[in-house]
Amino acid sequence: MSLIGGSFINPKLTVRHSSLGGGRGLFAARSIKKGEILTISGGVIIPRHEMNRIPATVRNICFFAGSGYYMCPRSFKKISPDFYINHSCSPNAATSENILEIIALRDIRAGEEITYDYRTDYNSLEQRYRAWRRFKCRCGSPNCVKVITA
Ligand SMILES: [Zn+2]
Repeated sequence: MSLIGGSFINPKLTVRHSSLGGGRGLFAARSIKKGEILTISGGVIIPRHEMNRIPATVRNICFFAGSGYYMCPRSFKKISPDFYINHSCSPNAATSENILEIIALRDIRAGEEITYDYRTDYNSLEQRYRAWRRFKCRCGSPNCVKVITA
């Protein structure tokens, strides 16, 4: 694992342009086995009401961390690659029993984009906290829910 911007990143991963998020995405540069650790996030936890203090380009890639808090990149200049993981309703990655650790849910081919289901974190129990973002999903999977709140 390589330490980049405060997060541990599997060296088989690389950041590239993605059609899913309309920006960047995290991709497998080499094939990855089911269960392999992809990333261990080392961001900073920021409460919802302080999100406006963060530059827009950075806060849009923060993840809902639970109870009205978001995990944002530790460095706003050198963004760690785990923050570029895009949403899919049929993801190939998820957190393990360690909430900071993202693992492969199945074998992942070289060239495939790493995806995560953002609904995992922002579930019905969290809806008392106003979501930071709502976007149209373009994952194209048969079970796509079309609009994602996270
Ligand atoms: Zn979808």
